[in-house]
Amino acid sequence: MKPFAYVKPADVAGAVRAVSDEPGAKFIGGGTNLVDLMREGVERPDTVVDVTGLPLDTVDELPGGGLRIGALVRNSTLAADERVRARFPVLSQALLAGASAQLRNMATVGGNLLQRTRCPYFYDHAAACNKREPGGGCDALGGFNRSHAVLGVSGSCIASHPSDMCVALAALDAVVEVESVRGTRRIPMTGFHRLPGDTPEIETELAPDELVTAVELPPVPFAARSRYRKVRDRASYAFALVSVAAALEVRDGAVTAARLALGGLAAKPWRAREAERILLGGPAGEEPFTRAAEAELAGADVRPGNAFKVHLARATIVATLRELNTGEGTA
Ligand code: SF4
Repeated sequence: MKPFAYVKPADVAGAVRAVSDEPGAKFIGGGTNLVDLMREGVERPDTVVDVTGLPLDTVDELPGGGLRIGALVRNSTLAADERVRARFPVLSQALLAGASAQLRNMATVGGNLLQRTRCPYFYDHAAACNKREPGGGCDALGGFNRSHAVLGVSGSCIASHPSDMCVALAALDAVVEVESVRGTRRIPMTGFHRLPGDTPEIETELAPDELVTAVELPPVPFAARSRYRKVRDRASYAFALVSVAAALEVRDGAVTAARLALGGLAAKPWRAREAERILLGGPAGEEPFTRAAEAELAGADVRPGNAFKVHLARATIVATLRELNTGEGTA
């Protein structure tokens, strides 16, 4: 690992100043991804700015039933929060589906937003990877790509985003609050992460000197009936092949509100707006659920290794919506 300087500011102003003054600096929270990346030499900061002493670790009420989640709230704390479990069960379930208990105790909300792909070629210096070395090529295109993306991909990169939490936040229309020496700004969760295009090394709209300070959940009353379903190779401590975050409101057999986001299928949490459009106002049932899933997945760009994901995603979307419609498995 490359040697680095370490600082631990006491307040947000000091933290953003420390990174602004030092272009080679990086913020560190729980360190559950950054430390791995530093060990592998993928991330090589000159200075690590430890933000774990900042007062950003509370979950506070917003008017109307929303919540403001500090960036340093641990994943396990947020998953167990009674308000999250009651009003946004999809978020609690997504958090509990991620990583292991030990990692959830360390990982922060801000760090979860910024974790990087687990594409094996990204971590392997012997492999070509446009994300690690722009212009270097992409060994995943013709290589082992079973876990890779099928939506929003480019010829430069087909990596998938690893987070479960972010999929739920995209479905809930969360807003990310960020701070820098220039002030505060708010970024909608659905626009926070970027698709790869020709610049897969740029993964978010965050400037290098901006610190995530909070995530706001607006009130979504029908999200009390919401669900996160994750399909993976083993029952715990594995990334999603496909995941679905959904909330559904059905009145007199018709869908009156729907939220749907997909994980494991793109370089960002994929908000399924086309499926939502088809669902809204129509009958709740197997046929429209299938039609909505197929419409969302129509643009999939697959390789022989990951074509199965389209079938898996369709089945998972339909199963999740069916569960919400019938009340099976929901609180
Ligand atoms: Fe790198 Fe993306 Fe290709 Fe993986 S898919 S090797 S992260 S460029």
